[in-house]
Amino acid sequence: MTDTDTELRVNKIRSGTVIDHVTAGEALHVLAILGIDGTGGETVSLGMNVPSKRLGKKDVVKVESRELSQGELDVLSLIAPDATINIIREYEVVEKNRVTRPAEVVGILQCPNRECITNAGEPVDTDFSVLDDGVRCEYCETIIRDDLTAHIDV
Ligand SMILES: [Zn+2]
Repeated sequence: MTDTDTELRVNKIRSGTVIDHVTAGEALHVLAILGIDGTGGETVSLGMNVPSKRLGKKDVVKVESRELSQGELDVLSLIAPDATINIIREYEVVEKNRVTRPAEVVGILQCPNRECITNAGEPVDTDFSVLDDGVRCEYCETIIRDDLTAHIDV
């Protein structure tokens, strides 16, 4: 039996997304990426430091009635590179994908450089290239290495 089978059995959701194999300790950052802070009425279940054969410990995030955009998946992959995304409809897993590390992340992160054109009130989406150890703004070349979630534009 896989970790996912166990998790889904314990607490099934009717429809939505189960983000499994999240790096332990990152569950709250995943919620930040999704823009979920508890005020939107979403039903969310979190498992933190759940035993996992593959990872030792993992976090699991279940969000009802919500699927993820590609931009959200791209940022998610940077903080939880082992995550699996399970799309649930009528209690069944209809789709299951590993996240993949993108070459670039468009429109989710905010550039920390106040002088950057993406912060000038122009209708320009942010665009960061993904490096081995961070991301780099394509407009002003500012590099973000730590705490990506602090730069999420929600
Ligand atoms: Zn920039």
